[in-house]
Amino acid sequence: MTYAAFQTAIGRINDVLCTLNLLNWDSRTVMPSGGVAARAHQIATLTDIARDMATDPRLADLMDSIQTNDPLEARAVAQARAEIDVLRKIPAQIISDMASLKTHANAAWVAARADNDFAGYAPVLKQMIGLQREVAAAIGTGGHPYDAMVQLYEPGMTYARLTAIYDQLKTALVPLIRAAADGPQPRTDILTRSYPIAAQRKFGLRMAQAMGYDLTHGRLDDTVHPFEISFTRDDVRITSRFRDTWLPGGLFALWHEAGHGMYEQGIDPAFTRSVFATDLSNLYAVGGASFGMHESQSRLWENRVGRSRQFWALHYGDLRATFPDQLSEVTEDDFWRAVNAVRPSTIRVEADELTYDMHIILRSEIEAGLMIGEIEVDDLPGLWADKMNSYLGVTVPDDRQGVLQDVHWSHGYIGSFPTYTLGNIMSSQLFAKASGDPTIKAGLDRADYAPLHGWLRDNVWRHGRSSSPAETLERVTGGPLDPAAYITDLSTKVGALLA
Ligand code: ZN
Repeated sequence: MTYAAFQTAIGRINDVLCTLNLLNWDSRTVMPSGGVAARAHQIATLTDIARDMATDPRLADLMDSIQTNDPLEARAVAQARAEIDVLRKIPAQIISDMASLKTHANAAWVAARADNDFAGYAPVLKQMIGLQREVAAAIGTGGHPYDAMVQLYEPGMTYARLTAIYDQLKTALVPLIRAAADGPQPRTDILTRSYPIAAQRKFGLRMAQAMGYDLTHGRLDDTVHPFEISFTRDDVRITSRFRDTWLPGGLFALWHEAGHGMYEQGIDPAFTRSVFATDLSNLYAVGGASFGMHESQSRLWENRVGRSRQFWALHYGDLRATFPDQLSEVTEDDFWRAVNAVRPSTIRVEADELTYDMHIILRSEIEAGLMIGEIEVDDLPGLWADKMNSYLGVTVPDDRQGVLQDVHWSHGYIGSFPTYTLGNIMSSQLFAKASGDPTIKAGLDRADYAPLHGWLRDNVWRHGRSSSPAETLERVTGGPLDPAAYITDLSTKVGALLA
């Protein structure tokens, strides 16, 4: 009886959070620009309501009174209590200060980026970093202050653990990047011809459906920054950004977001509106075990499947039939090489698979330094340029292409960048395990993605938030988080590109 009341209470919080997701989806896709101010009020009000519901003392009393022998029920209650504890620790005043600062910080960032004026942005960034330091202190894990921020997105992760992973990656990646950059360069001009967007969209969506993204519970729209968002597993929407003269941009973003989407669509229906589909610390309706695990699924379909040689051996004919004039003299091998070209550059969102993690490592090291007070905002432009030079050998020409390129810090998202690299690592661990299964491998060889889709659904997606990332990896791969499989995938790829 009390457990049913607990489920009802969490279900109602989930309803509010899904409604917030719907408002966010709308504001990022179809809302007219004049709707911004009113929408900000609506989002703030609903967030306050969700926070009040989650921190209501009656819910805490209810959780205390539940006695159950069912391990899943016990876990649901323990997880809700732990997540709400984190939420309670952050003073309401800081949340509200941050919400109002976010709007100003975003506007200051847009202006500073346009004018290449870091000094104009620094004061507001200092305020934001100050608030984030307070959040880290309020959560107080007892370890490095950055741990508190990272654990909002990746339960159980610490900066010490990240540093060890980053060292392993740097050691492996730096020589690989150099070898690929010094090797023969693929012709990438074939990707910048004129490719009508309607045909790109149709081909991309056909592939996403072949992978298993279900359009009866989903839809695709266009945006500036692609994303996936869900309002329970029954309505899981994705967006992409197609450009007429940059073929891979829209296609790979679509398959990336479809990977996120299939995760949400694959959650056990019994977990709908439950704590296993609700992130109470972040007040976000989501069904994935963590941000990193979520990213592992998008990277798996985007890179392990979509950028593989096998994928293009099977589908290049279809792409060429879609664009017969543009690709008439382009071979399947040319195309596969072009979409895997390695080119160190200053911009993270345009980075290839090999150099991408160096951009993340740079940001995490800076974020950790900011949180512990070893780095101050005024140090950022110089530090950024030095690290870019030492990790990727590129010169940062101005702050617009350096420290001002990402919006994350303006929104207070300190600690989320590492989950991109953790996702890459987990994608290779899970894919190595899956593709060792003969049925899955045979499926991949004939463009039948159902066996891989079914395996991921049963082993990862179905569990929602009821398993942590570490538990998921242990259960599925028999071991902990380990960059070895990812490093193997990248060195195999460089080997093939150089062959
Ligand atoms: Zn993603």
